[in-house]
Amino acid sequence: MTGNVRLRNGVEVPALGMGTWNMGDEPDRRAAEIESLRTGLDLGLNVIDTAEMYGSGRSESVVGEAIAGRRDEVFLVTKVLPSNASRKDVPKSCRRSLERLKTDHIDLYLLHWRGSVPLQETVEAFEKLRDEGLIGNWGVSNFDVDDMQELESVTGGDGCLANQILYSLDHRGVEFDLLESDRRQNIATMAYSPLGQGGLLLRNDTLAAIAEEHKTSLGQATPAQVALAWVLRQSGLIAIPKAGSVAHLRQNVAAREIKLTADNLAALDRAFPPPTRHVALEMI
Ligand code: NDP
Repeated sequence: MTGNVRLRNGVEVPALGMGTWNMGDEPDRRAAEIESLRTGLDLGLNVIDTAEMYGSGRSESVVGEAIAGRRDEVFLVTKVLPSNASRKDVPKSCRRSLERLKTDHIDLYLLHWRGSVPLQETVEAFEKLRDEGLIGNWGVSNFDVDDMQELESVTGGDGCLANQILYSLDHRGVEFDLLESDRRQNIATMAYSPLGQGGLLLRNDTLAAIAEEHKTSLGQATPAQVALAWVLRQSGLIAIPKAGSVAHLRQNVAAREIKLTADNLAALDRAFPPPTRHVALEMI
């Protein structure tokens, strides 16, 4: 079983959280998505990740509905677009997100990726929101090693709590340096798209063979559970798979029961070789 991750502000969150990209896009899936998020909360997965970009606010609205009456249970993460990262626009975006999320504060507010606004300006805007109590903490997303170094050098940049990045079996480049440099700076890594967005990764033969070897309380393990267990093997990292149904959500929770063996890990290294040099950070 994987446990909790202690953030630099002292807050402990479970290493398994919930993503929400594409939620709210299809009206006939909305009820199932809300049920999935609520079931996740029932099972203690209190990190919910969304963004103003997702469905132009539709994902935030789904989250707002899912957490209604349960705000205190949630560690709520949302993101501002780089095009809204200026001194003037950050507070406007934040207030719009708060409205859609139907809450008065965001626990962690991330810059979705780097744009043309100087980091110093965005950091100042984040710090102001923090002083005003509209956000608890701030962080970044899709920042590579050099971006993190630059961030550290701006005034207030050491207030960054987390870096949310692409990390899965088929995107291992960050193992060469970024995971370690985030760890050294005491910045939590949030791994997005840990299931390869439900695509080719889940049809991989090695994953299927390893799944055959494991069982969880739900029965025979699945390739998706193995992919998730592999990400969760890293301590101090928060994985945020998106489950649009309770069935997928429960499978993701049960993935925490899988303990990959040394042989399993070696087979996965052969199928998905670890990096041997710096690889520019990939993003989706
Ligand atoms: P994931 O890797 O989480 O994959 C989601 C897909 O996997 C969906 O199609 C889902 O289907 C399917 N799935 C979920 N659970 C299972 C399961 N147990 N078995 C089989 N299939 C399953 O991709 P995402 O891109 O959604 O990444 C996760 C989250 O990370 C996003 O939702 C978002 O919050 C965040 N993100 C952040 C980015 C950034 O730039 N900061 C970029 C991309 C994502 P179904 O919906 O039917 O359950």
